[in-house]
Amino acid sequence: MADATIIDGKAFAADLRGRIAEEVAALKADHGITPGLAVVLVGEDPASQIYVRNKGEQTEAAGMHSVTHRLPADVAEPELMGLIAALNDDPAIHGILVQFPVPAHLSQDRIVAAIHPDKDVDGLNVINAGRLASGLPALTACTPVGCMMLLKDVLGDLKGKRAVVIGRSNLMGKPMAQLLLAADCTVTIAHSRTVDLPAVCREADILVAAVGRAEMVKADWIKPGAAVIDVGINRLPARDPEAAAAGKTRVVGDVAFDEAKTVAGCITPVPGGVGPMTIACLLQNTLTAARRLNGLG
Ligand code: NAP
Repeated sequence: MADATIIDGKAFAADLRGRIAEEVAALKADHGITPGLAVVLVGEDPASQIYVRNKGEQTEAAGMHSVTHRLPADVAEPELMGLIAALNDDPAIHGILVQFPVPAHLSQDRIVAAIHPDKDVDGLNVINAGRLASGLPALTACTPVGCMMLLKDVLGDLKGKRAVVIGRSNLMGKPMAQLLLAADCTVTIAHSRTVDLPAVCREADILVAAVGRAEMVKADWIKPGAAVIDVGINRLPARDPEAAAAGKTRVVGDVAFDEAKTVAGCITPVPGGVGPMTIACLLQNTLTAARRLNGLG
């Protein structure tokens, strides 16, 4: 059997960002509205700093207004809540994102609840999760939206397909399953207590792995010809022993890519698959929020 088609998320995301930039320009020209995204970073976590910098750069590159608020790791929760309240009331801001994880003394649930649902571009607020589950228009978590775009691009109509999502987080697994259900797939959500996970996965025409365990999904878990979407981002020591000894790492997904691509029909690589879609979909959500907050649908 020929190797799988490799789904190029990097190219798809670049195209999507280009289309968003055109829509932003039109929104400015026709209505005088510049979509605005505020990102709040608490503390100095190096990975979060990189994400936040990338978000800011890509927001500006799309022609949007970008603001980053950096708060010290020991910020008191009322101060953070005050900032969120001010951003909720700021007419120049249409999307608010607090970069997670936050330090342990802050409540992620309270933070998510404090963000106005119409500006909740991460789609984590219970109002948006409930709207998604009820089939109503919602701001939906960026990474699952990006996975759906890739799947529809490569497969077309998803109706009737058997989909298995491994992982049930509010950020990834649950909204992914809801989106697949809304696209008329027959959906199974698997998790750490699922019995005989390989057998469950082998039923899938569409297999989405959102676990956080390096190369867990093996070739013999995959139905021949299936579409495999690998959401995982895991760090392993670099292949080169000297580099590994120097502390260098490499990023791998939740799927054992080299063997999986000999069985799957199409598959996302890590890096370069799902990852680049997340920020592109954040820009898309910010544009959507700007339109809706201005009564433009
Ligand atoms: P999470 O909140 O830790 O959830 C992981 C899920 O995997 C849980 O539902 C857990 O089950 C399940 N799980 C853990 N071990 C398992 C096992 N051995 N067998 C079956 N299921 C197992 O993680 P997340 O936020 O959803 O993220 C998942 C992965 O996607 C991570 O690697 C993350 O870095 C990556 N991610 C990437 C992007 C991106 O590309 N931009 C965005 C978001 C997440 P239980 O519920 O039973 O514990």
